[in-house]
Amino acid sequence: MPETNRAIVFDSPTKLTLESLDFPKLQMPNGTKAPHGVIVRIVATNICGSDLHIYRGSFPVPQGMVMGHEMTGQVVEVGSDVQFIQPGDLVSVPFNVACGRCRNCKNGRTDVCQTVNPQVHCGAYGFNLGDFQGGQAEYLFVPYADFNLLKFPDNDAAMEKIRDLALLSDVLPTAFHGLMEAGVKVGSTVYIAGAGPVGRAAAAAARLIGDAAIIVGDYDKERLDLVKRNGCETIDLSQDIPLADQIEAILGVPEVDCAVDYVGSEAHGIGHEAHELQPQAAINQVLAATRAGGATGVIGIYGPDPLADTKEGQEGTFPLDFGKVWIKSPRVSAGQAPIMSYNRDLMMSILWDRMPYLSDMMNTKVISLDDAVGAYETFDQGSANKYIIDPHGLISA
Ligand SMILES: [Zn+2]
Ligand SMILES: [Zn+2]
Repeated sequence: MPETNRAIVFDSPTKLTLESLDFPKLQMPNGTKAPHGVIVRIVATNICGSDLHIYRGSFPVPQGMVMGHEMTGQVVEVGSDVQFIQPGDLVSVPFNVACGRCRNCKNGRTDVCQTVNPQVHCGAYGFNLGDFQGGQAEYLFVPYADFNLLKFPDNDAAMEKIRDLALLSDVLPTAFHGLMEAGVKVGSTVYIAGAGPVGRAAAAAARLIGDAAIIVGDYDKERLDLVKRNGCETIDLSQDIPLADQIEAILGVPEVDCAVDYVGSEAHGIGHEAHELQPQAAINQVLAATRAGGATGVIGIYGPDPLADTKEGQEGTFPLDFGKVWIKSPRVSAGQAPIMSYNRDLMMSILWDRMPYLSDMMNTKVISLDDAVGAYETFDQGSANKYIIDPHGLISA
């Protein structure tokens, strides 16, 4: 085993560095031994929109934390209590860290595990949620490996589709979860707020489900083109036309069955207000766009934001148009996705070629660990790529 682990480390807002750290140990963040854990050699580790919250300083993390929560890799070391995962297995690592033993984990709610980060009942790699180090690195420690890891059935077949399978650690199941929470089914009309990577993955998942009209709203023409050329309708939010009118122009009615916010509190206004940061804009848009009796999912991140320009935003309270929509009996669901609830099924769909359009919609770009810091800057400026870091050159090969 090597002695070092090259990794992308958070220094301060907008300052990340590539550093050589110690090889990870089978050890929990509090220092206790973790014989239930494994060490994974990273094959693919993606940059996510949520990483940008950390990068910009909206989501404070300690200096020195390793970034990254979307990992796929090969197991190289297993603890003595690991029974079903073996060295050589190619695995997807759900971004939720979950114990598999608590009340919520037993109910499939791995997004709110009660033990791995008792402070807020939610654990994740590279996120200051339980002090688990991230995986934008050569190697990663994964606790409770038998429970957490999704093993691919065949390594060679998986490597052939690794760009798509790399999306199973977060972006694709998270996108799918938003649709499920919004009650999406065959023939639904759906509005997807945001054409970033998660919004585009949602558009791809909506196609897989068999939705009728899949309408994606964003400001960036390049991002919208990726979904438009793959069978979706698009709304350019930089145009000074109310969202309801734009939906009506497509559907003949101003509302959809289901709408999902894939933006969160870094949202902007519509048209002449497009340059204004309006933290509550996306959630209010999806609430307004959903028909009476429909449902709304909220996947975009909301939380206290030290960079917000209002006291409410800094405290994490948001003015909702609740009185306007109450009469429609809204059903609203919010929070992180329990990745494990969806990743196996979506893996099978990928392995059996049910989403041949996925790579094109995601616009994945494979880069080296040396290019990762630069890719953060490009992504922060609104790049239409989904970056997959390939720390060992295994995908490129
Ligand atoms: Zn992510
Ligand atoms: Zn748990």
